[in-house]
Amino acid sequence: MTSVIDLAVVRELRDIVGPAGCREDPADLEPFLTESRRLYRGVADLVLMPATTEEAAAIIGLCSRHGIAVVPQGGNTGLVGGAVARSTPEAPEIILSARRMADIRELDPDNYTITAEAGCVLADLQSAAAEADRFFPLSLASEGSCMLGGNLSTNAGGTNVLRFGTARELVLGLEVVLPDGRVFDGLRSLRKDNAGFDLKQLFIGAEGTLGFITAATCKLYPRPRGVATAVVALPDAAAAIALHSRARLALGDELIAFELMSRQALEFVLAYLPAAREPLARPAPWYLLLEIATARDQAGTEEELEDFLGDCLESGLVLDGVAARSEAQREAFWLLRHSISDAQKGGGASIKNDISVPVSRVAEFLGRATQQVTELVPGVRVVAFGHVGDGNIHFNLTQPPGMEAAAFVDLWDSLTGEVNAIAVDLGGSFSAEHGIGLLKVRELRRFRSGVELDLMRAIKQQLDPAGIMNPGKILGD
Ligand SMILES: Cc1cc2nc3c(=O)[nH]c(=O)nc-3n(C[C@H](O)[C@H](O)[C@H](O)COP(=O)(O)OP(=O)(O)OC[C@H]3O[C@@H](n4cnc5c(N)ncnc54)[C@H](O)[C@@H]3O)c2cc1C
Repeated sequence: MTSVIDLAVVRELRDIVGPAGCREDPADLEPFLTESRRLYRGVADLVLMPATTEEAAAIIGLCSRHGIAVVPQGGNTGLVGGAVARSTPEAPEIILSARRMADIRELDPDNYTITAEAGCVLADLQSAAAEADRFFPLSLASEGSCMLGGNLSTNAGGTNVLRFGTARELVLGLEVVLPDGRVFDGLRSLRKDNAGFDLKQLFIGAEGTLGFITAATCKLYPRPRGVATAVVALPDAAAAIALHSRARLALGDELIAFELMSRQALEFVLAYLPAAREPLARPAPWYLLLEIATARDQAGTEEELEDFLGDCLESGLVLDGVAARSEAQREAFWLLRHSISDAQKGGGASIKNDISVPVSRVAEFLGRATQQVTELVPGVRVVAFGHVGDGNIHFNLTQPPGMEAAAFVDLWDSLTGEVNAIAVDLGGSFSAEHGIGLLKVRELRRFRSGVELDLMRAIKQQLDPAGIMNPGKILGD
């Protein structure tokens, strides 16, 4: 133990959780210190895993009294370094992991709600809802390991935002340990509750800087009876926007996913993922994966999507299209979409962007940003994909073949700066769904107004005057 935390305090912290809730050996700490993009390396001597809200409150209360910083962590799948501890001898930090708080406290089918603890893995939450003939719509490629507390703290988006909104819109109630160790019990399961400020919203998307979420009550929806999925080929990005408008008119709220993939993105998947197959006979510049979910049976749902695709083909809006004929084929389509980030690694070093613009301006963004990065780095490969129905594009870049990987990564700030500036110029955001963490602190200061930053600082100061909750994240101080 190299920590400068007083040993008596360490003993007290250990006693709160017992041996099952404490990690101190370097090998055991490793998974908590390595983050998914390996952009940061965590430093901490102590990981505490409370099993109850009371234990979490006792830990944070004790840390508050001793000026020890607390870094909340869920599944550690975040992409901006938000869950990274940065202990120094002067400023020790402990990691507070939610993973032992994984109970589903209540599922109320008639109220269409589920109350679950922060450490509940997203896929388990989805399964629990499905078993009760209900649907929990939050869905991300990391759903096998990310956790509810992390999802809410990052206001996660994913593939079904188009119809159901981001994580924020799925929450009815929240339980949070505040930075002074008190518990805010806002675990109400009401759809109507206009009693003053909506306090829970403060903690959603706060990336652990205002408190530690311990549980939430979330909305459930009827489980769809039929789900149909298709991949279509498009001549250009503008066609995706036209198709989006048309699909929403024709399919209404049944349209739940509308995902864009560039040919370059698909080529990386086909090259580096052995299981991947070309979805269509001929290559095309752009592809869309769209999915509908209905209360009709499976055959009726498939028929509806096929009719829609037929109309689009006839009118020339799409070049080609194929609807999944089985669950295996549906999964194969989603595999193409979900594997892009991983497959991109095969092409060498990459630089990632997570921007959003109004849906109507996506094609303009793609044109301008592609031209800009190509001028700056000739030969750079643009791997654009994302939740185009939400105006959210992951405008990722892969190094030109033959370039030094390190030299390319050195361009991270300048290239993301250019791309973000174009998005903001089009009325967009430099962080659509991944948050700020450590990675985008500078961008937040650059692109958000003084008034917005002042308001954020005032809220932080009010709730956490000693600055013990996840220091350095979002505001950078
Ligand atoms: C392959 C892959 C695909 C992804 N796809 C998407 C996507 O489509 N959409 C999307 O939005 N994100 C996506 N992500 C990012 C990530 O999965 C999400 O941000 C997820 O919501 C993070 O959950 P987590 O439990 O892993 O949180 P962590 O990574 O552990 O933490 C994330 C942040 O939340 C804070 N936090 C965690 N738990 C708590 C808590 N209980 N109380 C307070 N603060 C807490 C942490 O301090 C940190 O700031 C993806 C990641 C990967 C690896």
